[in-house]
Amino acid sequence: MNFIRINIFIVFFCIFPYQAIGSYFTEPNATDSIAVTFIINAGFLIKSPHKKILIDAFIARHPDTPPSALNEQIENAYPPFDNVDLILVTHPHADHFSAVSIGEHMRNNSNGILVGPQEVHDSMERNCDNYEQIKDRIIARSPYRSTVSLTVNSIPIKIFQLDHDGVKTNNGYMIDMEGKIIFHPGDAEPYLENYSPYLWLKQEKIFIAFINYWYLIDDEHSVEGKQIINRYLNYDYLVLMHHSLASSAYLIQAVAELDPLWPNVFVYEHSLEPKIFVPIVPDSNSNNKDSSAFPHAFTLIQNYPNPFRQLTFIPYALHTTVRVTIEIFNIEGQRIRSLATDQNTHVGYHYANWDGRDEHNNRLSSGIYFCRISADGYYEIQKIMLLHN
Ligand SMILES: [Zn+2]
Repeated sequence: MNFIRINIFIVFFCIFPYQAIGSYFTEPNATDSIAVTFIINAGFLIKSPHKKILIDAFIARHPDTPPSALNEQIENAYPPFDNVDLILVTHPHADHFSAVSIGEHMRNNSNGILVGPQEVHDSMERNCDNYEQIKDRIIARSPYRSTVSLTVNSIPIKIFQLDHDGVKTNNGYMIDMEGKIIFHPGDAEPYLENYSPYLWLKQEKIFIAFINYWYLIDDEHSVEGKQIINRYLNYDYLVLMHHSLASSAYLIQAVAELDPLWPNVFVYEHSLEPKIFVPIVPDSNSNNKDSSAFPHAFTLIQNYPNPFRQLTFIPYALHTTVRVTIEIFNIEGQRIRSLATDQNTHVGYHYANWDGRDEHNNRLSSGIYFCRISADGYYEIQKIMLLHN
């Protein structure tokens, strides 16, 4: 029995080098698709085949502040937050921006360039102990009532100022990710006048437009909000943002009840939830829903840290509602630990963690172990390295 198990492991790793396992949700499988992972509030990780950006993803204060494990993952630039090309900040409010967290991330990601308004730059200078090391990778632009175009790490972006109460500048961004246009206006107030200097917006074929949910789902603001969307945004997909997780279910229901004039509107339900947006095929009746991009109910993400000494996190994504089993095997194929997955079975991201001990709480010796996640007769395996001092 053990012999068979070992062979399964070997065959598995010959077919799938373990680095590739688990990168599924950040790797658009079609060359023209875009993967968008929700962080929290208005924060997203956006990935095209060769480019990766974070926008409003470093958050100091919000009712649904990301769990510390996630913060640590982003600040350390661990996958999927590694090799980020562009870090965008719309404005310096604490639910969109944390200078210290961005400073940490830039310390660990020598590739990333930060673009934001002048206030963001000034806050980085005041708050980051590594400001001197990263200042050459900070670009401050606050184009009052006008548009600035620049190219950062081979990504063309347009920056345009939109009013938002309480800040000097709230930058809107139009980002060209390998031919797919992404629109993110930050917390722009939903007044037509706010958008009136930017008639060029109408000419852009936007692939994914992010917009605060009250532009569409709110009696008070949505009258003018809908006019703004209709007049200025020619999009394939509209993603509603800036909601608390507690209101996700309400918003998803509200979107489902929208007039059919508003197709392809999405709301994220959970922090770290992935969606892959594929181009809408002309004259097709079926919507290209992102869920079809996932062949299985779950994806195992590479654990971190790896190698580890005390504790390693094992993230996994559920694409449908399912209860998974997570087990640790030694190199001989013997099961040595069942990990309690959290009680969540809902779609989105979850973490298991392993302390390098067996079922009897004994510390295991240094070496290679295997983590297996399974559900619905399908499984994924990944290699974990345990090290002792
Ligand atoms: Zn704000």
